[in-house]
Amino acid sequence: MYRSHNCGELNASNINMEVTLAGWVQKSRDKGFMNWVDLRDRYGITQLIFDESRTDKTVFELAKTLGREFVIQVKGTVIEREAKNKNIPTGEIEILVTELTILNAALTPPFTIEDETDGGEDIRMKYRYLDIRRNPVKNSLLFRHKVAMEVRKYLSDLDFCEVETPYLIKSTPEGARDFVVPSRMNEGQFYALPQSPQTFKQLLMVGGMDKYFQIVKCFRDEDLRADRQPEFTQIDCEMAFVEQEDILNVFEGLTRHLLKEIKGIEVEKFPRITYDYAMKTYGNDKPDIRFGMEFGELNEFAQHKDFPVFNAAELVVGIAVPGAGNYTRKEIDGLIDWVKRPQVGASGMVYAKCNDDGTYKSSVDKFYDQEDLGQWAKITGAKPGDMIFVLSGPANKTRTQLSALRMELATRLGLRNPEVFAPLWVVDFPLLELDEESGRYHAMHHPFTSPKPEDMALLETEPGKVRANAYDMVLNGNEIGGGSIRIHDKATQQLMFKYLGFTEEEAKAQFGFLMDAFQFGAPPHGGLAFGLDRLVAILGGQETIRDFIAFPKNNSGRDVMIDAPAKIDDAQLKELHIKIDAI
Ligand code: ASP
Repeated sequence: MYRSHNCGELNASNINMEVTLAGWVQKSRDKGFMNWVDLRDRYGITQLIFDESRTDKTVFELAKTLGREFVIQVKGTVIEREAKNKNIPTGEIEILVTELTILNAALTPPFTIEDETDGGEDIRMKYRYLDIRRNPVKNSLLFRHKVAMEVRKYLSDLDFCEVETPYLIKSTPEGARDFVVPSRMNEGQFYALPQSPQTFKQLLMVGGMDKYFQIVKCFRDEDLRADRQPEFTQIDCEMAFVEQEDILNVFEGLTRHLLKEIKGIEVEKFPRITYDYAMKTYGNDKPDIRFGMEFGELNEFAQHKDFPVFNAAELVVGIAVPGAGNYTRKEIDGLIDWVKRPQVGASGMVYAKCNDDGTYKSSVDKFYDQEDLGQWAKITGAKPGDMIFVLSGPANKTRTQLSALRMELATRLGLRNPEVFAPLWVVDFPLLELDEESGRYHAMHHPFTSPKPEDMALLETEPGKVRANAYDMVLNGNEIGGGSIRIHDKATQQLMFKYLGFTEEEAKAQFGFLMDAFQFGAPPHGGLAFGLDRLVAILGGQETIRDFIAFPKNNSGRDVMIDAPAKIDDAQLKELHIKIDAI
C-alpha cells in the first residue's frame, strides 16, 4: 500500500494515528537539528517533521538529501503542530516520520510549482505535466470535470443518451478547413476529422435515438486567433420531434442547472432577442448585457444640420458612457486614437459631454445646439455626468466599431464582472450570409439549417433576407452555444444545396448519404452544440480557455511539449502513398 491517506485529509482528529503518505516534496526547511518537509499531492499539503532527537539517524540523514519534486513515501505518526497554520486544512498537525523511501528523485523543475509561479507561458507549456501540479491548473481541470459531470447528469436525467460518433469521417463543410488523415489502405484517399458530429447526430435522429448528446472533440483547421484551439470540445446535442421552443427550453434548463450547481446562482428566464435587434442595439450578435450602453441611432437628429461627415453617413450612432462626463481631453483623445486603430477602423469620433447642470458640451458645437444634443442624450439614454460617443459611416461597419468601443469602455469601467452572469438567446439568425469576396451566399450556420417556413418564398428573390430557425446562447459577451432546427426532407435539402451553389452531383457526392436517409422516415429534429472549453472558462471566471484544457496547443497550433506537428519518416510517407517534393 503506497498510502493510507492523501496529503489533504489529516487533521487534529487523527492525532496519534500511524499513517503512510506519498507525494511530491514541495519544499523543505532544514534547521540543522530539525527538518520540515511539505509533502504535496493533488489533495493538499501535509507537513512532515524529521527531528534529530526523535527520528532514526538514517532517516534523518536521508531527509536532508531530498530535493524539490522528489517523489517520496513516508510512514509516521500524526502529531500536533506547535506553530499551527490556520490557512490549510492540515495546518494543525504534522507527521513525525519514522520511515522514508525515495520513490523517485527529480531534477529541479524549470519553474516553481507555486500558485504564483516564476515560469512564463512557453516554459509552462513545454513542461505542462509540471504546470498541472500547480493549484490554478489542477483546480481548473477539476472544475472542468465537475461541469462535464453536471452536464451528463442533467441530460441523462432527461433521457438523453450519450452516443460516440466516428472521428475518421468525410469532409463536412461547416465554414472551416478540415484536418485530413491519409488512408494507407485506400491509396490517394483521405479521411477528415470532424468539425462537428453534425451529420451523424442527424442520422441518429433518423435512427430513432430521439435525444442524443456527446461531449466530443471537434477539429477545425482555421487560422488561429487568440485563444482558439484547433481541437476543442463540444457538448453536442440533438432532439427529434421538437420545435425551436422545445430546444430553447431544454438547454436553457441545462445552463440554469450549471449556474446553480456550479456557481450557486439562480437566473431568471433568459431574455430572447432577435439577431436584427442584437445588431442594431449592440452592434454584435453576442452582446454582453451585464451593462447598458445600448446604441442610439441619431440620424434624425444629426443629419439636419451642416455637418458634412454625418450628412454623408448611412448611420450615425452613439452610446452613453456612464460617469464618463469628466474624461479629460487627453483621455478622450486616447479613445479617439483607440477607435482609429486599424483593428477598429473608425475614421474619427464625435463626443458630447453631459454636464451636471443639464447642459452639453460637444466636439461639434459649431453644428449642433443644446436642443440637438438634448435629443442625442434622450436617444442614447445619457444622464448628467455621462459622455456620449458618436460614430458614423456605413451601417454594418459602424455598428461593429461602436460595439468594439462599447466592450472596451465596459472593460475599463469594470462593468464586465466575471462573477455576474447574464445569459440570453439570440434568435432568428439570417439563413445566408454574403461572402464579399466570392459574391456567393454561404449558410450562416450550416447547410442543414431550416429556413423559417414563412420566409421560404424570399429564397428566390432576396436570399439575404431569409431568416433561419437558428439560435445562439450567449453568456457575458460570448457565444457559448448555437444550433438550429434542421431540414428533414430531401427536397428542401436539395434546394438548399442548390442555393448554396452546389451542383446536383456535388451535393450527391458529399451529402447523398444524408439525403438518402431523409427518404427513410426522418423525423423533424433540431439541436445545438455548446463549446465546453469556453463555457468552463466563463463559469470559472477566466478569460482564457487554455488553463481549462489539460494539454492545449499554443497560438501557432503547436503542442510544444510533444513537439507536434512533426515530420514523419520516408517509409511512413511511402506507406501512405504520399510524395513530398524535395524543397
Ligand atoms: N454542429 C453545429 C456547430 O458545431 C451545432 C449545431 O448546429 O448543433 O456549430
